[in-house]
Amino acid sequence: MLLRHTKKEVADRKALTINPAKTCQPIGAMYAALGINGCLPHSHGSQGCCAYHRSSLTRHYKEPVMAGTSSFTEGASVFGGQANLVQAINNIFTIYNPEIIAVHTTCLSETIGDDLPQIISKAEEDGKVPEGKKIIYASTPSYVGSHITGFSNMVEGIVKGFAKPGIKISDLYNVIPGWVEPSDMAEIKRIMSVMKINSIMFPDTSGVMNAPQTGKHEFFPKGGTSSQDLSKTGSAAHTFALGSWASKGAANLLSKTAQVPFSVCDIPIGLKATDRFLMELARISGNEISSELEFERGQVADIITDMHQYLYGKKVALWGDPDQLIPLTEFLTDLDMVPAHIVTGTPGKAFEKRIMEICSEKGITPNVKCGAQADMYLMHQWILNEPVDLLIGNTYGKYMSRDMNIPFVRHGFPIYDRIGHSYFPTVGYRGAMRLLELMLSAIMNKLDREAPEEGFELVM
Ligand code: SF4
Repeated sequence: MLLRHTKKEVADRKALTINPAKTCQPIGAMYAALGINGCLPHSHGSQGCCAYHRSSLTRHYKEPVMAGTSSFTEGASVFGGQANLVQAINNIFTIYNPEIIAVHTTCLSETIGDDLPQIISKAEEDGKVPEGKKIIYASTPSYVGSHITGFSNMVEGIVKGFAKPGIKISDLYNVIPGWVEPSDMAEIKRIMSVMKINSIMFPDTSGVMNAPQTGKHEFFPKGGTSSQDLSKTGSAAHTFALGSWASKGAANLLSKTAQVPFSVCDIPIGLKATDRFLMELARISGNEISSELEFERGQVADIITDMHQYLYGKKVALWGDPDQLIPLTEFLTDLDMVPAHIVTGTPGKAFEKRIMEICSEKGITPNVKCGAQADMYLMHQWILNEPVDLLIGNTYGKYMSRDMNIPFVRHGFPIYDRIGHSYFPTVGYRGAMRLLELMLSAIMNKLDREAPEEGFELVM
């Protein structure tokens, strides 16, 4: 019903955001912290923020998400949250005994100007941090950036907390995967292992946010990058950072702190981005691309050849995070599909430039916008003006899909109403096969549903 109020004429908006195509910085910080073994995320702000961030992650991953909060009330909001945070640190180490606490701020603690490094030093001076335990932190004001900015900031916090210069280990490599699903992280680790590359991935939410049901509640699941591994990242020969928005900052910091050179690669979604990633792995490590991966690439090519007629010329609207949208758009153009409308709520003008470069190679001129006004309302307006055949994005697209009868593939964050994303990757060649399956099923289900009796085919 809400969608009936969307105006077809697109007006330039300077300040108003309607249905943002992004979420809150601390959600990203919390997700990154959950990828460290034995780490408890801590939200320095009011309880409401923390409850929202936890529930967003729980609804997407269908896993319990543990996190502490400084529980600001009126007093802390006026006089600062130092006493609350010091007390929280003491309580958390005493009661829950994590290895690490990862503190992130919220709009409120940022606005009143709480100084996290100073407060954490105070807690250390007061003996609230037990021997061998650690506190890392990130500043995550949600009135700028997005959940991706928060993720990136916390990954930098991990580097600040752990990385130190060390004697280089020539066959050790770091991988910063960016904000991808736990299934994607597991797939990237498989690719590294198939390529015989010894690597440390951080953060790593595989086995944490897609943990098995064992009948026992584990407060700190077995997965996640260990502190021991994190302290070796400064000795690695090279860092592969996947995605400029989520991973480049940490790779850059690691290079400054511990002189670890780095490459920034696109997240390996689709054929070309995976090709480039593998070639970069091969170039840096000196290892050959394995025949197992070549076999998988051949399977992707086979599916494309078999099913190209269902994909050719189909217009697609997509929204999500810049690091994922760039290789996804490229994959669509490789399939001879037409990315028509693309928005991300995460700021960074380089996004629009990159998308235009990819599309212009195929003579496509999409509508593309990033930042606060690149919202779902604008996306709806664009689709009203130029209809599409397929939607790809997070759960918030389901209203448009239903209202306009457009096939819909759920991809990105958050996905609140389907499962699968945590278990089946969309990165690498295997991920490309999964994306093809999802897109073809969505398109072909509609064909079947709407085919006249005489055109309803058994074999397609
Ligand atoms: S936008 Fe700010 S106030 Fe709102 S939930 Fe996020 S951190 Fe809290």
